[in-house]
Amino acid sequence: MLSEFDLIARYFTRPARNTERVALGVGDDCALLMPAAGMQLAISTDMLVEGRHFFPNADPAKLGHKCLAVNLSDLAAMGAKPLAFTLALSLPAADREWLAAFSQGMLRLADAHQCELIGGDTTKGPLNICITIFGEVPAGQALRRDGAQAGDDIWVSGTLGDARLALAGYRHETALDQASQEAASKRMHAPTPRVELGLALRGIAHSAIDISDGLVGDLGHILDRSRVGARLEADRLPAGTILARQEQDLRRRFTLAGGDDYELCFTASPARRDQVLAAAASCATTVTRVGRIERGSGLRIVDASGKPIDLQLASFDHFKSS
Ligand code: ADP
Ligand code: MG
Repeated sequence: MLSEFDLIARYFTRPARNTERVALGVGDDCALLMPAAGMQLAISTDMLVEGRHFFPNADPAKLGHKCLAVNLSDLAAMGAKPLAFTLALSLPAADREWLAAFSQGMLRLADAHQCELIGGDTTKGPLNICITIFGEVPAGQALRRDGAQAGDDIWVSGTLGDARLALAGYRHETALDQASQEAASKRMHAPTPRVELGLALRGIAHSAIDISDGLVGDLGHILDRSRVGARLEADRLPAGTILARQEQDLRRRFTLAGGDDYELCFTASPARRDQVLAAAASCATTVTRVGRIERGSGLRIVDASGKPIDLQLASFDHFKSS
């Protein structure tokens, strides 16, 4: 039987990689980080619960990737550079195969972003994965939700809606052939956190958020915090490649209020359009202009001719639905 300490040593302990910032990693009562002069620490926590955020029997390697990806996405949305993370893990059993795949999926993404696992907690219980991530950003340069200004363009990165389409396929709400289901599922299981884009948008974007609960709901947070309104052009929204083949109503619903996209929504002055495009090109990410921040409050969703569209869209809220 694998003990708690064997398990930590075997799957979650590695030699320090970033000794400049991480003075002490896994193994003591606390880890020690060394923030650089003039930098602020950006800190975020995300918890994933079996049956709520992922299916029971989810592929452990993909799960490991996704748990870290959603946390990296929060750093991306602030324009923060990843430094390190901690992992609090509740596990029903010390299953070696599961642990090997899970830790590999997670640590491969960690290495790609030079983000070091510096500690955590391990306990027996229902499968529950909680990561706290630490990043750094020059003081005053974080991309916050409260910085949008009337007149700003609204942009989104990448494409939206394929993750939600995959879920609809799994739930038999939408009929998808196997190839489409598999392709859309990739977006659901293996989101790409837009870390480089977040960094490239420092000093350019006025505000940003990552799209985890659907664009309308997440843009709504920017509007509330910035005390502004907005107009969104539904048919400019970049649909995922599989969703793009579906009919208009589904396309609109899932791009506007899909969820699990992990793209960035950000605002910037129209005078900065070229800089936004150059920033996106510098990290090989597409960005699309989808609307405009306006004075006042509320979100107006319009079609290509400017006519308001009335869709009953519910952004995801754990305590509203079911
Ligand atoms: P404590 O008694 O202080 O809670 P633990 O015995 O739980 O410490 O953990 C021992 C060390 O292993 C600590 O440095 C802790 O941060 C680390 N650790 C525990 N679980 C994990 C995990 N899942 N991933 C990475 N590090 C972990
Ligand atoms: Mg502990």
